[in-house]
Amino acid sequence: MGKITCCEEALAEVNSIVLHCPKLEPFACKKLKKLLKELTFKLKVCEEWEKLKVKELELKEKVELKKEAAEAKLHEELEELKFKKEVCEVHLHEEVEDLKSKVELIGHEINPVEKIKCGFLKFKSHFEQEKEYYEKLAECHKPKFLIFSCCDSRVDPFKILNLELGEAIVVRNVANLVAAYGEEGPCPSNHAAIEYAVKEIKVEHILVIGHSHCEGIQALVKTHHEEKTHYSESYKSWLKIGEHSCKKVKEAYSSSTIEEHCTLCEKECVNHSLHNCLTYPFVKEAVASKKITLHAGYYDLHKCAFSRWSLDYNYSEGEKYCSNP
Ligand SMILES: [Zn+2]
Ligand SMILES: [Zn+2]
Repeated sequence: MGKITCCEEALAEVNSIVLHCPKLEPFACKKLKKLLKELTFKLKVCEEWEKLKVKELELKEKVELKKEAAEAKLHEELEELKFKKEVCEVHLHEEVEDLKSKVELIGHEINPVEKIKCGFLKFKSHFEQEKEYYEKLAECHKPKFLIFSCCDSRVDPFKILNLELGEAIVVRNVANLVAAYGEEGPCPSNHAAIEYAVKEIKVEHILVIGHSHCEGIQALVKTHHEEKTHYSESYKSWLKIGEHSCKKVKEAYSSSTIEEHCTLCEKECVNHSLHNCLTYPFVKEAVASKKITLHAGYYDLHKCAFSRWSLDYNYSEGEKYCSNP
């Protein structure tokens, strides 16, 4: 505003000179008036200039605001794009993995030799990672468990109990049955395994695992209910080990359905097999001297639940492991 004030003051002074000095020389008067005109013009220019300056500032502010808003919007859009890209990448990765496993699966279905090869190579890469453990294990193993479980493909004890190689001696047969001492016939494989595990390895626990939907037990129950069956004499003679349990359940639960009968039988056969373990003199001795503990287990395929109990389970007691601790 300095310039305008300056001009205003000069103008006022010229005006007062022109007004108060009538005797002013006409030339001087003309000159003064010319000056006055120039000053008036300059004042106008100054005013315009000031206005323009204000406008310029306003415009600058507006531009600044618009710039900020545009930048914020761009930033937002960029972030959104980044997020979309990440989501797409995850999706893509999942799809690729899915396709890979499908290809692998189809490959295995088509080619069992490939399945064996790939399976072993996968294990070998795990072996390389845990080399120290496996090399020690190759020298000596000291498993604490002897486990009897069904040969059903869905009940592998190493998988369902998250065991490592070297942690258990496992015997698998149809319906996880253990024959009584001396009653196994001409090929006593149970006897050999029990003697090896108890006398040589000196395991500390014997666990018999039964399971739901056991087709071996279903065959036993069907045979026992004298339904016409297509099973061979050899198969039936193996299942005979569980016959006593089947009878016991049928007598105690006469009104139960055949499905209920099977479930009860799956559990009672576990008790019976453990009792049969005790008919081995060296097992009886080890249990009596508390060197070995006997455990019964039951795995429910549908619920993915595991029950553990000691001998003589009454079907309602025992510890149940249904969810993560
Ligand atoms: Zn061997
Ligand atoms: Zn089974």
